[in-house]
Amino acid sequence: MFDPIKLAELTKKEVCKAGLRKYYRFRPSRFYGGISTADCVGCCLRCVFCWAWKVVSRPLDHGEFYRPEEVAKRLTGIAEKKRLSQMRISGNEPTLGWEHLLDVLDLINDRYLFILETNGILIGENDDRPRDLSKYKNLHVRVSLKGTCREEFSRLTGALPEGFDLQIRALEYLIRHRVNCHPACMTSFSPPDNIKALRRRLKNIHAGFEDFEAEEIILYPHVEERLKKLNIAYYTAHRPDNIPLEQI
Ligand code: SF4
Repeated sequence: MFDPIKLAELTKKEVCKAGLRKYYRFRPSRFYGGISTADCVGCCLRCVFCWAWKVVSRPLDHGEFYRPEEVAKRLTGIAEKKRLSQMRISGNEPTLGWEHLLDVLDLINDRYLFILETNGILIGENDDRPRDLSKYKNLHVRVSLKGTCREEFSRLTGALPEGFDLQIRALEYLIRHRVNCHPACMTSFSPPDNIKALRRRLKNIHAGFEDFEAEEIILYPHVEERLKKLNIAYYTAHRPDNIPLEQI
């Protein structure tokens, strides 16, 4: 097991330098009904179901360094060309290069909604970060929980169980600083009782969080292969006892 904060520091040295950040792709995407997307390189977790595993596990081998101005320009260019009103940084973990991320946000015209997709680890580590985010009124943060509790988090990410507390704390801090946000959770590995317990826990942070966004595993061949190799069982889109997720 590893400390995700330490891995974030180490990875940052590989994917961030002097205000620049590594990216491996810029593209329009169909998610959220259409969104201009920049895929960054580098993450502080090692999720067993990661669809970008090749990039996450070998950040030195992927991507090029970009200045914030170049990232904003490419995101805006794609949005204009495809008539999209939303933008995001996705792929790996956007918060590793915090200063770079803020610089990009400063350059995005606020007529666009910017969706920050994050595992929340670094936002939960330091209350200054969600405070930084509170000035962006066109920002929405999606915190993706890796499992429903410490044990699941650790099994799924390879990180210390306390990392889950940082994910939860990220949501608490974001609410405290009035940043628009919502939780998502990978539930394909979670028994119904654990999902219920997470609903209760999230409801205590914000009433609207009870109905969190449920993520289901996408079984790309390389993901299925890793799960088999690691001997990790998962549920498919339906609960084993056939209870629809929304009824748990
Ligand atoms: S947090 Fe996201 S990018 Fe990072 S390892 Fe997990 S799934 Fe992959």
